[in-house]
Amino acid sequence: MAAPNTETVGKIPVLGLGTWKAEPSEVAEAVKVAIDVGYRHIDCAFFYHNESEVGTGVHYKIKEGVVTRQDLFIVSKLWCTSHKRSLVRAACTRSLKALQLDYLDLYLMHWPMGFKPGEEDLPVDQSGLIIPSDTSFLDTWEAMEELVAEGLVRAIGVSNFNHQQLELLLSKPELRVRPLVNQIECHPFLTQKQLIEFCQSRDVAVTAYRPLGGSSGGLDFMDNTVVQDVAKKHNKTPAQVLIRFHIQRNVTVIPKSVNPKRILENFQGCAVFDFCLSEEDMSALLRLNRNLRLATFPLARNHKDYPFNAEF
Ligand code: NAP
Repeated sequence: MAAPNTETVGKIPVLGLGTWKAEPSEVAEAVKVAIDVGYRHIDCAFFYHNESEVGTGVHYKIKEGVVTRQDLFIVSKLWCTSHKRSLVRAACTRSLKALQLDYLDLYLMHWPMGFKPGEEDLPVDQSGLIIPSDTSFLDTWEAMEELVAEGLVRAIGVSNFNHQQLELLLSKPELRVRPLVNQIECHPFLTQKQLIEFCQSRDVAVTAYRPLGGSSGGLDFMDNTVVQDVAKKHNKTPAQVLIRFHIQRNVTVIPKSVNPKRILENFQGCAVFDFCLSEEDMSALLRLNRNLRLATFPLARNHKDYPFNAEF
């Protein structure tokens, strides 16, 4: 069993386990392996439809005495069909129940966009475009603030917010709880320089999702020669370089894996005692930027709160 990683950004353990597209049949074991290896941060969401299996893994390790609840930082997300004020609490308690927890460390608004409430996660019209709700993310935020007041969540944050949306939230009159985090897509091909600078200047931590390029094909980040050269120089794997890249920008990172060998490999990519990228390495990786966004959510492109029309 490895030592837990104690590096944090603020209160947030710097490395988390991603769980999107982790099959329900595999994710409980993945969570157990991750906790044994030293992960203390787990990124979940209602939308991933595997929270009860994640909860099984977490509980197994708490029961075994490997960790206590307080050792863990567990994140979930409010899905877009629950943005109406009256639906927020029920959405949160549904995730808590699935995860078998009585509080979350962090609850994120998954997207700034509200969708028509109902059973379907992605309600679409005849032309295949998302049917929006008439909600505003500022109202949704107020309902999320209530969750903090009630003790159901320790902190709240956002995901996929552009800087204008975040600014609107931060300057909201009578803001009671500030967002702890903006979770955004980030990797050397989408470096998010301006958005990260904006968030950090406003004391909002950044979490990088899809750090390895995800599983949706397209550009293979790990095949890139710059990434490979940096990896060879440090005797590390390309995935470890892609993970370490964020930590040196003071950004938390949540690679997903259900494979025990890769869960360990990714964890070792975050360890400062293991290796450090030089300024030259960081510059070479940052120069790979081509504003390549993988999570573009085209179904929602006409939504009034679609976040990716702004420059950053
Ligand atoms: P990712 O972590 O960049 O990539 C995951 C893919 O890489 C999986 O196919 C995984 O396969 C593979 N992989 C993992 N470690 C590897 C290694 N060391 N070498 C080679 N391949 C490796 O993509 P992601 O899952 O899209 O993003 C990470 C997490 O961010 C998600 O799981 C989710 O928790 C969160 N996320 C949030 C949002 C949002 O809107 N807020 C959007 C997307 C993702 P194996 O499992 O087989 O190892």
